[in-house]
Amino acid sequence: MNKRPLYFDYAATTPVDERVIQVMVQCLGFDGNFGNPASSSHAFGQEARRAVEQARGQVAQLVGAQAGQIVWTSGATESNNLALKGVAQAHGSRKGHLVTSLIEHKAVLDTVKQLEEGGVAVTWLAPDADGLISAQAVREALREDTFLVSLMLVNNELGTVNDAVAIGEIVREHGALFHMDAAQGAGKVSIDLARWPVDLMSFSAHKIYGPKGIGALYVGDRARPRLLAQIHGGGHEGGLRSGTLATHQIAAMGAAFELAAQSFDEELAHIARLRNRLLEPLLALPGVCINGSATQRIAHTLSLTFNEGEFNPAALGDSIAFSATSACNSANNAPSHVLLALGHDERAASRTIRLSLGRYTHEQDIDEAVRLIKAACAAAPAFWATPT
Ligand SMILES: *Cc1c(COP(=O)(O)O)cnc(C)c1O
Repeated sequence: MNKRPLYFDYAATTPVDERVIQVMVQCLGFDGNFGNPASSSHAFGQEARRAVEQARGQVAQLVGAQAGQIVWTSGATESNNLALKGVAQAHGSRKGHLVTSLIEHKAVLDTVKQLEEGGVAVTWLAPDADGLISAQAVREALREDTFLVSLMLVNNELGTVNDAVAIGEIVREHGALFHMDAAQGAGKVSIDLARWPVDLMSFSAHKIYGPKGIGALYVGDRARPRLLAQIHGGGHEGGLRSGTLATHQIAAMGAAFELAAQSFDEELAHIARLRNRLLEPLLALPGVCINGSATQRIAHTLSLTFNEGEFNPAALGDSIAFSATSACNSANNAPSHVLLALGHDERAASRTIRLSLGRYTHEQDIDEAVRLIKAACAAAPAFWATPT
């Protein structure tokens, strides 16, 4: 087998932690916990139900929620769909007004566009120069008929962190609901839903060392009566999301969230050290700049734009696995909507890379990546600057 590239794309997905895999496989075979959690009449079902409820508690614990406020979904995409469509539908024929931003994940952008086509009025907020949505911008966007504000906690391309509390207070004062996509925030930002004025929050397991295909939506008490199910059939999850619960996925997500809680401080310190080791030599290169706020950010995700004519991302070839943009955009190779909203043109966007670090990044990986990126700068062809 060829040597695999260095992995610098933890924001796209993470490997499943070995300890999480152990929990997961115990929920599959005949000797394991394979029952249907809805089969309440026998021990197999009851044991599966216990695993599901334990996991619900583990997810709730990391984010300061109550277990009963966590609804299982197939991932953050579905959580976003449930939050946005579910609230809009409950709001009903009044249509009304929704506030979101231009730099949301596609799972929010495309869902809001769908609602917009259905007659909901939408304000698309632009980020400030730091890649943040200010509380003031939200305040100015609110209208009498605004029923929902949806903004991400952590931007998946920039690593910037919106001020959930300041924005939430304004939304709450107004009376609308506040949804946050926190797929990139869980385990990286200290989240306290018991205190935060946030009504709905989306999570995904595979950004936090759990498996793909499982996520959750936090539904706070204000949001519960203002949310309608989007998937029907059996009335699971208090009627909010039908479908047989995937015990192995759910138990794994719970284990992943518990591990994140246990190692929270240690992991953040580890990532910050690695980020500094990476950034220092790269910022010494001529004309390299970081996109997004230098202070309101997580250390895990870095978006770097290189100087015209001084960087050839193709030269990184198969040696580093990174994203030119987010994994979700790269399917169609379009320039990043986030970078365009920040004021970059398409050519600057093409000289931008996202490097994201995680649990299995070692110091040697950092040093090797720095060496490779420096070489890619040296290898930039003179014609790179020529418009095409
Ligand atoms: C990855 C991601 C999603 C999608 O999550 P899935 O679980 O893959 O559906 C949504 N929003 C953000 C910000 C993400 O990073």
